[in-house]
Amino acid sequence: MIDIMVNPLYACNIGHCQGCWVTEAGLLRTGARFTAGQWLGAINLIPQIGKVDICGGEPLLWEDLHYFCYKLPWPWAVTTNLVSERYREFTRWPLRNCLSFTCSFHPEGGLSREEFASRAGEMARHYPVTVAILEKTAHAPALFTWFTSQGFRAVVEPYEPIPRHGPAPRYSCEGGRSFAYLAPDGDVFACVDSQRAKANCLGNLFKNTVVWPQDRLRCALECNTANILAPYHPAGDVHNLQVTLIR
Ligand code: SF4
Repeated sequence: MIDIMVNPLYACNIGHCQGCWVTEAGLLRTGARFTAGQWLGAINLIPQIGKVDICGGEPLLWEDLHYFCYKLPWPWAVTTNLVSERYREFTRWPLRNCLSFTCSFHPEGGLSREEFASRAGEMARHYPVTVAILEKTAHAPALFTWFTSQGFRAVVEPYEPIPRHGPAPRYSCEGGRSFAYLAPDGDVFACVDSQRAKANCLGNLFKNTVVWPQDRLRCALECNTANILAPYHPAGDVHNLQVTLIR
């Protein structure tokens, strides 16, 4: 089974948060290029999908998001900053099959913690909600304590730098087999780090040029999954990439 992360757009209604990887990777804040119907048609061709994770950019800016989630035949999850009022579509017309709504609290977003908690609380009546606080946020520990005192499951997210290329492959992993990252233009990458580093592109979904790896991928990036996510992320190797050092 393969988990896919669909990033329908890189546009964001905040766009200047400290440590935002979209900014640091130098990506254009493009809006959505494809409709829900086009995405559904394209990802239907991927064999054996386990779940669909929708990120961005800010996915609530995508006007098709609710319809897309409604039509998905696989379990799905969304990561959002909750700034857009479009979250109300999900409370007004609750959907099935949601694994999680990760609500990322960004002080730069202009919502007070109380306003944010009110919105997250509305969502939590219908969906499994986790409040994520970036580790780079100066007041992360105090925010963590406050959100947990309000009854939320909260996590402090580790900050993940953009990995650099090394001189030779050091790792092998299940990138492109257990997980794939789908960019707004349909480019498919072996993992989130690969997209940030513009490496390990497997082809383009909408051009039908994707070559899915038949074996474990060999990789020369300084891998955040191995170095940061596995030891520090609350979900560990969240994409089941099973990174190992090549000896
Ligand atoms: S080794 Fe790490 S950075 Fe390289 S493709 Fe695998 S998960 Fe991505």
